[in-house]
Amino acid sequence: MKKYLEKQIENFIRKYESKSQTKWGKPLVGFADADLTSLKSVISPAHATGQDVIERPTVILAYFVPFLKDMAQTNIEAGTASPQWALGYEETNAMFGELNQHIINLLKGEGYRAAVSPEAGAFDRELLISNWSQRHIAYAAGLGTFGLNNMLITKRGCCGRISTVVTDLPVTPDSPMKEELCIYKRSGKCGLCADRCPSGALTRNGYDREKCFQVCRENAAIYNSFGNSYASEPGQPAEDTGSEVCGKCVAGMPCAFL
Ligand code: SF4
Ligand code: SF4
Repeated sequence: MKKYLEKQIENFIRKYESKSQTKWGKPLVGFADADLTSLKSVISPAHATGQDVIERPTVILAYFVPFLKDMAQTNIEAGTASPQWALGYEETNAMFGELNQHIINLLKGEGYRAAVSPEAGAFDRELLISNWSQRHIAYAAGLGTFGLNNMLITKRGCCGRISTVVTDLPVTPDSPMKEELCIYKRSGKCGLCADRCPSGALTRNGYDREKCFQVCRENAAIYNSFGNSYASEPGQPAEDTGSEVCGKCVAGMPCAFL
């Protein structure tokens, strides 16, 4: 089933590339248990679960879509995020809207329920959290492990984006990956992501989301013409904020592409 879905997602992406400037690598698919109750203590008591999205869900289909190396290359230099990076972020999120609908139609065509969580389109710009953590769901789906940079490092790296669809497909949920993919967490070496962070938000000892978001806001003030990805409330249109991106702890890292 995973191979079938990976093929369907890849076919969709290849067609979509005819109307986007961004291009993408080969996707990875995993299944997380639909019961995300544990994330209420990890992220926020308001974090949604699969049961909030459809009746009697079994799993959450999580997928990772890598960017390409030449696009990442544009964002290695210190300073402002590259325009290609900001555009890639917005174009990927825009593609996910259509791709998720395609996946939902496929699953419904086979007689299953499927839907996207309304929380997935929202980001609380005061608490700086989402009540639908794509990364934590992808972790539960066995797609990768968390790097020091807070990104999910998959077997294709961490330079890409994640999306999810809740369904009642009769498959067994995956388990988190056992192999540690962050070099620093594995051996205490590396830490390049912290060294490259322009604001001191990311250090070997932790992460300051306020400092990180300040950098993203500075980039958003520059990149205000590529579209907008996140509402502040579920079900609302995306806020006209500009592209809240940075990615200096991802592009050029040894874990970016594996
Ligand atoms: S750059 Fe190094 S320390 Fe940072 S997440 Fe990647 S592997 Fe881990
Ligand atoms: S996204 Fe930018 S500011 Fe935020 S932790 Fe990474 S490098 Fe630092």
